[in-house]
Parts: sequence; structure tokens; C-alpha cells
Amino acid sequence: MGAAEAGSGTTCPSSLCAPGHLLLGIVRPDGTVAALRRPLTVDADFVARASAPGRRPPEARFRFAGPCVGPACGQWAEERCSLGDAVAHAAHEAGVDASGTPLPPCAVRPTCRWWQQGGPAACHVCDHLVHTSS
Ligand code: SF4
Repeated sequence: MGAAEAGSGTTCPSSLCAPGHLLLGIVRPDGTVAALRRPLTVDADFVARASAPGRRPPEARFRFAGPCVGPACGQWAEERCSLGDAVAHAAHEAGVDASGTPLPPCAVRPTCRWWQQGGPAACHVCDHLVHTSS
């Protein structure tokens, strides 16, 4: 079990830049996320370099996965991740047809909180999510 699957055993696909978390992707200029073919485990050196003064927050430039912290997260409500529900809802609102469409590659899907709650709909809009907008 990797650090990203620690704790509850469920992974947050939009977590912080922290040692032990996984670097999932890089935010493109258009705001979508290019997923890494093989996610990298973040170490303290990466965190220090990515968080250097004068740079935009790493969570605005990359996507990270880490353990879902459940009730300790501001997005947790009524025993669910409200953000994960919002992502799946946005997909439905946008008319995303998740049935029969191949899922994008994802390293954390088996333990992903959003996948567990929203299924394929969440996956099809996940690459439009950026943790920090500044
Ligand atoms: S509640 Fe949602 S946003 Fe918060 S850590 Fe868990 S998966 Fe991530």
C-alpha cells in the first residue's frame, strides 16, 4: 500500500503537494490536465522546489493524489465527498455520456473517492479539475 492509499484506504484525486502523495498530471495552459503515464511519488525535495517563492502554488500547476481525509476535509459532508458529487453532477449537466465510452487512464481509480461515488461520469471530467486556481 502506497502513501496515497493510506488512512481510510480511499484516495483523493485532488490533493495537496506533499511528500508521499502522487503527482498525477500537469496543468496545461488551457486549464485541462495532462495525466502522467506513470505517476511519480512526491518527495520533500520536489515539494520544496515546486513551492519556491515567486512561483504559483504547485496545486495550480499540477494535480496530486493523496489519502482522502474524510471528515477532516472541508469538502466532506453527510458522509460523502461533496466535491466528488459536484464533479459527477457537472458531467451529467454537461451531457457527458459515460456509458460505453472508454475510461481515461488513471493510476488511482481502484481507490478513488470520486470514482467510488460518481463512477465513469466523474472520470470523464476529472481532467478539467484543478485544485487551486490562482
Ligand atoms: S473529501 Fe473529497 S476533496 Fe476531501 S480529501 Fe476526500 S476525496 Fe479529497
